[in-house]
Amino acid sequence: MSVEYAEPCQLAEDVGVLLPRPVGRGEGWGEGWLGVVYPAVLAVSLALLSSAASLPSACAADQNYAVNPVPLNQVHLNDVFWKPRIDTNCRVTVPVCFKKCEESRIPNFRRAAKLEAGSFRGEPWEDSDLYKVVEGAAYCLATDPDPALRKYLDGLAALFAQVQQPDGYLYTSRIIHGDKAPGRASPVRWLNEMGGVTGDDSHELYCAGHLIEAAVAHYQVTTNRVFLDVAIRLADLINKDWGPGPDQLKISPGHQEIELALVKLGRATGERKYIDLAKFLLDCRGHYRRPANVKSPWSDQYYSNEMPLTNLTQAVGHAVRTGYMLSGMTDIAAILGDPGYTKAVDTVWADTIGSKLYLHGGIGSGVGMSEGFGNAYELPNKGYCETCAAVANCLWNERMFLLHGDAKYIDVLERTLYNGFLSGVSLSGDHFFYENPLVSNGGYVRSEWFGCACCPVNVSRFLPSVPGLQYATHADQLYVNLFAGGTADMSIAATRVKLTQETRYPWDGAVKLTVTPDKSAKFTVLVRIPGWARNQPVPTSLYRYADNLQPEVFLTVNGKPQPIQLQKGYVAVNRRWKKGDVLTLKLAMPVRRVMADARVTDDAGRMALERGPLVYCFEGADHQGKVMHLTLPDDAAFEPQFRPDLLGGVTVLRGTGKASLRRADRSVATEAAALTAIPYYAWCNRGAGQMQVWMPCQPDKATPLPFPTVASQAKPSASHCNGQDTVGALNDGIVPRNSADQSLPRMTWWMHLGTLEWVQYDLDKPATLNTVRVYWFDDHGGCRLPKSWRLLYRDGETWRPIENTSDYTTKPDGYNQVTFKPVSTSALRLEVQLRPNVSGGILEWKLD
Ligand SMILES: [Zn+2]
Repeated sequence: MSVEYAEPCQLAEDVGVLLPRPVGRGEGWGEGWLGVVYPAVLAVSLALLSSAASLPSACAADQNYAVNPVPLNQVHLNDVFWKPRIDTNCRVTVPVCFKKCEESRIPNFRRAAKLEAGSFRGEPWEDSDLYKVVEGAAYCLATDPDPALRKYLDGLAALFAQVQQPDGYLYTSRIIHGDKAPGRASPVRWLNEMGGVTGDDSHELYCAGHLIEAAVAHYQVTTNRVFLDVAIRLADLINKDWGPGPDQLKISPGHQEIELALVKLGRATGERKYIDLAKFLLDCRGHYRRPANVKSPWSDQYYSNEMPLTNLTQAVGHAVRTGYMLSGMTDIAAILGDPGYTKAVDTVWADTIGSKLYLHGGIGSGVGMSEGFGNAYELPNKGYCETCAAVANCLWNERMFLLHGDAKYIDVLERTLYNGFLSGVSLSGDHFFYENPLVSNGGYVRSEWFGCACCPVNVSRFLPSVPGLQYATHADQLYVNLFAGGTADMSIAATRVKLTQETRYPWDGAVKLTVTPDKSAKFTVLVRIPGWARNQPVPTSLYRYADNLQPEVFLTVNGKPQPIQLQKGYVAVNRRWKKGDVLTLKLAMPVRRVMADARVTDDAGRMALERGPLVYCFEGADHQGKVMHLTLPDDAAFEPQFRPDLLGGVTVLRGTGKASLRRADRSVATEAAALTAIPYYAWCNRGAGQMQVWMPCQPDKATPLPFPTVASQAKPSASHCNGQDTVGALNDGIVPRNSADQSLPRMTWWMHLGTLEWVQYDLDKPATLNTVRVYWFDDHGGCRLPKSWRLLYRDGETWRPIENTSDYTTKPDGYNQVTFKPVSTSALRLEVQLRPNVSGGILEWKLD
């Protein structure tokens, strides 16, 4: 595919892709859209397209940001870090997500389009999953044209047009079932948007928001406006149904997202009405109240609906919802110059980054509110930190930068991008985290997919948009925000400029920028000096470096050193640039120790390691499976070492710390231990295992390794183990508080229900045994105590039952001990009959 792009239209630079004109058509991007030829195979009635609104032929200057990003199709990465990840996203993640959508989302669209019979399956918000993958695939097309993908996307666009109702409504569960739609979609269009009827949200506007974002991306990349016209018709319907009039709705959106999407649509079409509608929807908050008789598990705080948003001072509520909402508020602050919204986003940002940001850039601890923000400084390391919330935090901080032109917002964005967002996807691109905790006892692994799959599809669309975050322009100023090798084309001070960046960032802090203007021209290059290079890990006092290092920052232009005078976090180099001018930046990258504000009690007495923009962690794979017994004393020195063979090529940090081990007499010994830290984003790519970011500085905070026993040295296995759980839990020596204890690793047969199952210990050498103790897992839900169990020992090639001298018990909240006539064996098997229709599991299994 070759797409010809129009001259830069600032209007469209928001999403990072220029608004193109149709291939081979006339000048001006408002002309002749219906002449675009659609694939004949799509079997879509072109009559559906006849209501297409025409786009204006000029950019609307009043709908711009102060600063505008250089669109992603003008940035061509060839770097060592992001390019391989973006390629994996486009070649693995996007196809994986489409495959899942083929199984369980696209059928709903086909049924809604009456292309096949059947009822709606799944949850109504799942329409949005498909839209998000379409958005991601469109970004992939922008940098890597693929005719087959293009055809597939155009086919989906046509399907969406066929599903859409004549008045513009598009929500498959209600289109299939009318007002008898199942579950939270019911009972009537729009009225359950914030659970106003049943108490749980319909997500109609959430789906509409993702539809609009995907449609804008698809249109901007392909020039096919079928999907964009679907979005316009839907937005026009919302604009008709919501508003200040007596017959119009004033319901707050239940899952924020539509607001930022409408701004995108407004900027892509030049239609101010969509931006005004976004503001109207934001303005509904704090005024709309659900009927008093509606019972709901969700509070007004959960929805940030307690007060008008201009009165908001703190980040509260569901983290993803709030993050998207703050992005929309920042759009309104920037584009409409609204002082109330500007004050609100500035105040909430100070609260968020000052007291609610995890070290890896994640937000939403989940404490006290499902998937939500906790109180200030309440940052438990097992925190929730949803991948989608990391995406929202990036989207918001990018917009805060566009509003204020200050590098501190890019500092937060970069921290989130390289750490708490990137951990959301495996190096292979096909396994995902929903939560991104900073500690794991070993039972937590990425999944191939989720019942609620918002996170994988969000990764698929956000990763390929990263090039659009790298540079920005404002009048005669060029902002260099992120460091990654490649080239970029842009226009500054009416001059076409090509910028070439060479660097091995984030492994090395040396950056070379070659500036090539069409003709010699005077403009300012603003080079961001990251907070981490200025002794400020975050732009607040929430985290600080514990050492007294003063890492060097060195900048030259054509070899001549430049003074490091910072303006809003940038060094400004103002000069007449000519072809081939070279700007070099050297950021020293020593290993840094980070401490948290004392009010973050979960990090008290603990330290984390960073190098450059990367947060590090210690993983079991480098320490015989365990890290909870390790300590990072103040004097432990760590050195970076690049390991091209490891985890796709990473710089590890190597040093000596301490390990705590329990002796036979139950006292604790501490000895020196060789330690290796890996970048946090890369953890859990070598199987399940323990992981920790915040390491104890003193052994009293570490969990000593248990004294070696027959069980702890045995090799565990099972007839089946749930993907989230681990057979290593059987002999990890961690004593449960009770049978429902979910804070530690467990072995479960989930979701094998009512079956005969087993776990097994293989011993290094034969041992004589006469007692077994087992601690059952019972979460009062899908996993219950077993119906019965028995022990078998291996005798040559045969499994024989032991001769028990006490009963097999199935009691909760303690060890169930069985004694038996001594056997000498090299393997023991524990056979379990699960209760009908439920599964079961084990927290610990001891041998004596
Ligand atoms: Zn999510």
